[in-house]
Amino acid sequence: MGRDAPPLILTLTRACNLRCGFCPLSLGKTTMRQGTAAKAIALYLQRHPGRTPRIRFFGGEPLLRFRLLRRIVEGFPRPAGSPEPAFSFPTNGTLVDREVLSFLAEHPGVEAAVSRVRDARALAGLPNVVVTVCVAPGREAGMPGHLAGLLAAGFDRLNFLPAFFVPWSAEQLGGLRRSFRLAAALLRRCRDRGRVVRVRNVATANPVPLFNHGMVVDSDGDVFPSNAVLCGPFAHLRDRLRMGSVLEPARIDWGRGRGLRWDPIFRRALGNQVYDATRRVDDALTEFAAELVRGGIGG
Ligand code: SF4
Repeated sequence: MGRDAPPLILTLTRACNLRCGFCPLSLGKTTMRQGTAAKAIALYLQRHPGRTPRIRFFGGEPLLRFRLLRRIVEGFPRPAGSPEPAFSFPTNGTLVDREVLSFLAEHPGVEAAVSRVRDARALAGLPNVVVTVCVAPGREAGMPGHLAGLLAAGFDRLNFLPAFFVPWSAEQLGGLRRSFRLAAALLRRCRDRGRVVRVRNVATANPVPLFNHGMVVDSDGDVFPSNAVLCGPFAHLRDRLRMGSVLEPARIDWGRGRGLRWDPIFRRALGNQVYDATRRVDDALTEFAAELVRGGIGG
């Protein structure tokens, strides 16, 4: 197998069927055309020949464009001898129906990170489903109980996602750390009983903290070095970070944003209070992942 290519993040839609209070994304209505997706993929493969393609579908809610997602997976160009691509997408889970379940069963190379579990029995049986354990400020105390419920329902692959870019009080941050310690203890108990539970955060390391880097393609075909611009507080960076468009590949400036110091940008955009809270939440998550590693729990 070839080395992994940096991820291609395809924003299938800016729309979502929910309105979560802590949603960091700048939601809208634009959706990606199939031709735009095809151009983005061709360009991505041309830039990373022989390396394992990693395609991450993004939103909004990617399952609002399930047909397009399926067409991309099933029609992905695979010249003989080329590495098997890896696909993944986050979803709020509300649109996971029988069609989506059978698609996931047929395509074990497509990983779905589901944050709301509607049909636990159907989802827990799929090896390519990861449950995202979201934690909003004020809800941190309930997280270990939620985790216990997921473990009891048979889920063995998890990802923890505390809310970023929102204020957390000192008390809530203390509660989050306590809940992470309880969660680590629960996971260690599973390990002691011989059950293998994987936690994605253990394996995730990102050179730009808080965001996905790689080739990020917005729903209109614009290309960016980070998906930060898809978030409300950073949307004003769009012009500064826009590399070009997959519709005009020859004019893309691939060096744009290289060497950028993200920290001061984040602080200016978020304000000191929210920035500091976000860094502390990220630190708590990092400590939690380190504790899992020490406890022999893998990613
Ligand atoms: S489901 Fe995700 S994208 Fe939709 S509103 Fe909630 S956090 Fe935002």
